[in-house]
Amino acid sequence: MTNSPTFSVEDPATLEVLAHVPNQGVVEARAAVDRAAAALPGWSRTSPRHRSNVLRRAFELMLRDKDELTELIARENGKSLVDAAGEVNYAAEFFRWFSEEAVRPAGEYGEAPAGGARTLVSHRPVGVAALVTPWNFPAAMATRKIAPALAAGCTVVLKPAQETPLTALAIARILAEAGVPEGAIEVVTTITSADIVSAWLSDDRVRKVSFTGSTGVGRALLHQAAERVLNASMELGGNAPVVIAEDADLDAAVAGTMVAKFRNGGQACTAANRIYVHSDVAFDFIARLGAKVEKLSVGLAVDGAEVGPLITAAAVDRVRRTVEQAVAEGARISHQAALPEAAGYFFPPTVLADVAPGATILREEIFGPVAPIVVWEDEEELLRLVNDTEYGLAAYVFAGDLGRALRLGERIEAGMVGINRGLVSDPSAPFGGFKQSGLGREGAREGLREFQETQYLSVDWPA
Ligand code: NAP
Ligand code: MG
Repeated sequence: MTNSPTFSVEDPATLEVLAHVPNQGVVEARAAVDRAAAALPGWSRTSPRHRSNVLRRAFELMLRDKDELTELIARENGKSLVDAAGEVNYAAEFFRWFSEEAVRPAGEYGEAPAGGARTLVSHRPVGVAALVTPWNFPAAMATRKIAPALAAGCTVVLKPAQETPLTALAIARILAEAGVPEGAIEVVTTITSADIVSAWLSDDRVRKVSFTGSTGVGRALLHQAAERVLNASMELGGNAPVVIAEDADLDAAVAGTMVAKFRNGGQACTAANRIYVHSDVAFDFIARLGAKVEKLSVGLAVDGAEVGPLITAAAVDRVRRTVEQAVAEGARISHQAALPEAAGYFFPPTVLADVAPGATILREEIFGPVAPIVVWEDEEELLRLVNDTEYGLAAYVFAGDLGRALRLGERIEAGMVGINRGLVSDPSAPFGGFKQSGLGREGAREGLREFQETQYLSVDWPA
């Protein structure tokens, strides 16, 4: 099985096989590095304006092909058409953003304090970069790495998740059409991911690894990266809290929680994982949220469903067990949506009330459409609970008094805090986490830096 020449890509909503793609091995992975290394000198010497124009063209081509890409993402990932179209826009925006960053040179020229020298600081492309991406945002997680890497003058080898290789292949075709030269982006599809990535991390020509996925795999890759002191960026798991204060606008809190929890069926690293609502408004909040959850349509994207399936049968089992354990620990299923009559890997959107602050479900990344609700009264105790996790990716705060919302936001140990909104992602903002949610940032100016080395020339300057 692991050495069969191809593997199949399945639609998780229908279990239909969409395509067979090559199951590449270590030999092909090394050959991809050969081509990326051969393309590096030429690509890194192109002008920033040239790279900017190519990325701008990729942005335009993604929008030209928006409908096809939306359908492809919806089919291989299962997410709704609204979520898939949103992802195409978000993914394309990384090409536009980094086409703009590519031509903003940042350097320094300064006089050494002791005199006698001048210092010229600039930023060089780090070299061939190995990119590893997950299935939950098959387009955006790829372009969020490819765009800054190409803007910096790096060439890349990319290993998409085995569940969603088709979107990555489509993006590589768009980049070729946009004018990215042969070898500058190489996609390797495989089901033996650990072997392929290990081969890259131990290859002297690879100078960078940028990974998005689970904290466990990220940790294992960091161990391997340590062997060669390899430059590493990590976007890992999350356990995002939502905090709803007693003075929050409840309409905004419900709408924001719906987005933070049910976008992508809860399969997002930034997904709301724990909802802390003040006791004064808990009854109202749960009733309003629950009414919306019960009305969510679950099913096939092509039928216009708002929530699609989970990615695999194993994911359904895991979420089911998580809910069963929560109920065994005292939680109550207060609201649930209906399941479709389809073959796919569906789990019903669910609200869990009466969740105890120490419940197991609050410690694990649910990665599914389940909303556990905890009631709070004391702000200091709330902050202790919110920060009592090894993760620190996203958080959300809803409060009427903006000053209070900001003060709460600053005390939460998370890289991204949504204030009175349920979405934090933006290409112009530095996406990333505190603690075990990762290292480095993607998007913004910082995202380009992840693919650059800082160099200075110290120039003799006689008096
Ligand atoms: P995953 O199992 O860690 O997989 C991510 C990628 O790593 C896939 O391409 C996977 O390939 C590959 N991989 C798996 N095991 C590997 C190994 N031993 N060595 C090398 N590569 C390996 O994560 P996932 O389940 O696909 O995605 C969900 C996770 O990603 C969640 O924890 C989520 O929070 C996180 N995530 C984080 C962000 C962020 O920006 N912080 C964004 C999105 C998702 P295969 O497909 O072949 O397994
Ligand atoms: Mg996986």
